[in-house]
Amino acid sequence: TAGRSAASVARKVAVPALVQRRGFMSSLDDYGSNLFKGKVADTYLAKQGLPAGLMDDPKWTSKPATADKVAAAIMEWAGDRGASVYTHWFQPTGSAGVRLGMTGQVHNTFFAFGADGKPEFEFKGKTLLKGETDGSSFPNGGIRATHCAGGYTVLDPTSPIFLRGDTVYVPSVLVSFYGDALDEKTPLLRSMNALSKEAARLCKNLGYEIGGAFPNIGLEQEYFLIPRSAFYKRLDLQMTGRTIMGKDAPRGQEMSDHYMAPPNQIAFECIKEIQHECFLMGIPMKTRHREVAPNQYECAPLFGLATTQIDQNIMFMQICEEVTARHGLAVLNHEKPFQNVNGSGKHNNFSIATDTGVNLLNVDQLAKAAGSPLPFIAIMASIVSAVDKHGDLMRMAIASPGNDFRLGACEAPPAIVSTYLGDSLSKYLEEFKKTKVVQPYTAEGKTIDLGVPAIAPFTVPAEDRNRTSPFPYGGHRFEFRAVGSSQNVSMVNTVLCSIFADAFSNFSDQLEKGAKPADVAATLLDSHWRAIFNGNGYAQEWPIEAGKRGLWRIDSGVEAMSRLSAPKNIELFEKMKVLSKKECVARTTVMYNHYVGTVEMEAKCMVDMIKQHIIPSCKAADMAVHELEGGVASVQAGLHAIHTAADEEAKAKAARVLRLETMMDVRKLCDKAEEDVPADLWTIATYKDLLFLDATNGAEIVDYE
Ligand code: ADP
Ligand code: MG
Repeated sequence: TAGRSAASVARKVAVPALVQRRGFMSSLDDYGSNLFKGKVADTYLAKQGLPAGLMDDPKWTSKPATADKVAAAIMEWAGDRGASVYTHWFQPTGSAGVRLGMTGQVHNTFFAFGADGKPEFEFKGKTLLKGETDGSSFPNGGIRATHCAGGYTVLDPTSPIFLRGDTVYVPSVLVSFYGDALDEKTPLLRSMNALSKEAARLCKNLGYEIGGAFPNIGLEQEYFLIPRSAFYKRLDLQMTGRTIMGKDAPRGQEMSDHYMAPPNQIAFECIKEIQHECFLMGIPMKTRHREVAPNQYECAPLFGLATTQIDQNIMFMQICEEVTARHGLAVLNHEKPFQNVNGSGKHNNFSIATDTGVNLLNVDQLAKAAGSPLPFIAIMASIVSAVDKHGDLMRMAIASPGNDFRLGACEAPPAIVSTYLGDSLSKYLEEFKKTKVVQPYTAEGKTIDLGVPAIAPFTVPAEDRNRTSPFPYGGHRFEFRAVGSSQNVSMVNTVLCSIFADAFSNFSDQLEKGAKPADVAATLLDSHWRAIFNGNGYAQEWPIEAGKRGLWRIDSGVEAMSRLSAPKNIELFEKMKVLSKKECVARTTVMYNHYVGTVEMEAKCMVDMIKQHIIPSCKAADMAVHELEGGVASVQAGLHAIHTAADEEAKAKAARVLRLETMMDVRKLCDKAEEDVPADLWTIATYKDLLFLDATNGAEIVDYE
């Protein structure tokens, strides 16, 4: 079959023989050879007379002579690895990961004519540091007119330069002629700056001097791998990344037999090659396993600085796109590619590290470094207050079109924003809140004895895990679990950094006015205690209880988007110097436009699939089609309602109705037809074709060299 040959071809071309035989990481020698950092960079910098470690400190970017030498070093490194092209690589506002459109890049060769008219390679410091491009066609939410086209790409030294194929990628920001942010990264960098400043100020006020603080994140990425042959028989998957219709396969995840099961061999070869490419590019992919739904997988890297991690996550998604094609597979990064089996998230693990590497969310480390647990209590109280006050912004940051189908569906936490601290930490903070006495915090683990002599008693942490909370604390980090798999998580981390910076700043304000730290922390905990919820977030009683507590709950993704321009949030972003009012309003519009565009594509796919596939199939089976024709008409009416809506917000609201109401009804007609039409007359790939790789893509193992 076609599936079989695709799989066997893949085996011959895909993975380097060494990787096939020995696994992707038999030695550490090649780790990061395609990343201009550490030893790799230092070797080439030394030849230019530059010191080791230069790339780790952004200061080099402000010295033109040094930048020239760095550029020369990069060009030599690139040449040794067969690359002769560079690009400033940026992330336009609103970029999301459902195929294409995640990043912007214009490739330029190093090629130039020398003074003697002969061709030569050239790469100057100023070319490395800054590019100028036509930025007019990126989403800008009306922040400027089309004829004001200048877009400036400026190197971001917090994320290392890397190399892929023949091209050197220079991670960059994108801003307009007037300095307005046109990308996802600029606000993130500004928020990181605010966090650093305010964390240092608060620590200092509490008697602990630090030079700065940075967000560390680790992104767990869930995704599906499906047979490419079946992918090509799904217009909806190709165009929008999700199935807009499709009857359940007879088997889904009812046996719970996919989670952490042995990987399918076809998928496994593909994942190994993905890991190998990541390894060369210095993307520290650590974990791989099967997820809950059939054909669903997860990978997670070792955590690191937010900007770098985000760039690497985006690159990971691109590598998946490219490598899967060589294995007869297609990757789906969408939050909800299939109805009635789990969708995909991207858990955003978050902590804050000082310049000397102390994790401010690790009570032991911080108490030791600061000589008291008080800074930890102050930081926790601040974070709880931020979640309570600005839960709407956290909800906004995860309002992607794909997350509409996931939030609150008992596979991702509900659209209610709360935090889980666990019993032991909650008890500790509660005691403090009552007494204002700072006690040492001992998170005692417990010992489990199985009563089996062969298995020695072992210890477990004080806290169990909670997967139903959108923002649980896990000992040393918070895990924002409700984030969508296809998202560029820049906005997510921009929000976290901004709201925490603001909370730290408010704390400091009070201390600087003479308040006692213990009083401020206790009052904060008292007034925001309601945001702590250690129970089951999937329980039916929780929404009722959350309502009584007055927590942020925004079910509609479109409504969540509007929060970016709410007066309290504009005030916050302006105060933290992260986004201006103009930028907030523009970004809200970009989010609406993105949502509307997504729904339009989905609706048009539905119309085409019904008219070009389902109706002909039904006719061939002598079945009535008038209901389906009526369905097409109602989808088209929904599209018309979007087009005639008054403004961007109204369009987005109309789109949401079309998608979550009209199209859901029409889907039922499609799925019923699929149930009744004989298999040989059905021309769209079914859920069985898409979700069961072994059965549809040939499970035979082909010998390879
Ligand atoms: P889990 O079992 O929680 O799903 P995984 O190993 O799948 O854990 O992923 C956890 C992610 O959290 C990894 O990317 C890991 O590097 C990251 N992580 C661990 N500690 C921290 C920390 N202190 N700050 C930020 N991220 C962290
Ligand atoms: Mg995990």
